[in-house]
Amino acid sequence: MAEERRDPRDVRGVGAEEADAWRELVDTARRTVSDGLVVGTSGNVSVRVADTVLVTPSGVPYDRLTPDDVTGVDLDGRQVLGSLVPTSELPMHLAVYRSTDARAVVHTHAVHATAVSTLVPELPAIHYMTGALGGAVRVAPYATYGTDELAENMLHALADRSACLLQNHGTIAYGTTLAQAYDRTAQLEWMCHLWLTARALPGLTPTLLTEEQVAEAGERLRGYGQRP
Ligand code: 13P
Ligand code: ZN
Repeated sequence: MAEERRDPRDVRGVGAEEADAWRELVDTARRTVSDGLVVGTSGNVSVRVADTVLVTPSGVPYDRLTPDDVTGVDLDGRQVLGSLVPTSELPMHLAVYRSTDARAVVHTHAVHATAVSTLVPELPAIHYMTGALGGAVRVAPYATYGTDELAENMLHALADRSACLLQNHGTIAYGTTLAQAYDRTAQLEWMCHLWLTARALPGLTPTLLTEEQVAEAGERLRGYGQRP
């Protein structure tokens, strides 16, 4: 007998792990709005469950998303779950999953981070939390949103880093969990705010950390917090 084909629009085709991951993804997307990292439907969030990538749908307010709206693609971008159109930034999200061990990706238009992306090719190492992102955070050169060119520029900027800025656009960060990808995004936005604040005083220039100092902090941060 032929194997029963799963209707991609059938939410009954969503497993428990995917349903849980979707709930967490929607919570994270809503948090980007409530914490002021995006306005409206800007930004997008994804999480990987095995070889399926759950993504926010394009242009849908996050407070309207329900458990029935699970939207998922495979690593080639073919839609395998849901009927809502996936985020326009699929090329960026999939590029991260294809080339890193990421399990979650968060993209925002956070205001201080976006401001910094218009000023410098790299966020100066203003704080030791630079080490938590793998080193000085680079700015990917501008390309139109949603394009393969933007994804390619982003990948170069992400080399040995877990976050980068997108010129005249925003942030992207990844992690092994949604919580980690979100936290890296928030830390990056905070550091951009810090640098803009410190450099704004006339006649004074902020001190910066050396590569060694950043690397040492990064190493120490691996043991930060409670024992697992
Ligand atoms: P989507 O609504 O398609 O995810 O696009 C938002 C965005 O930030 C594009 O860069
Ligand atoms: Zn965007």
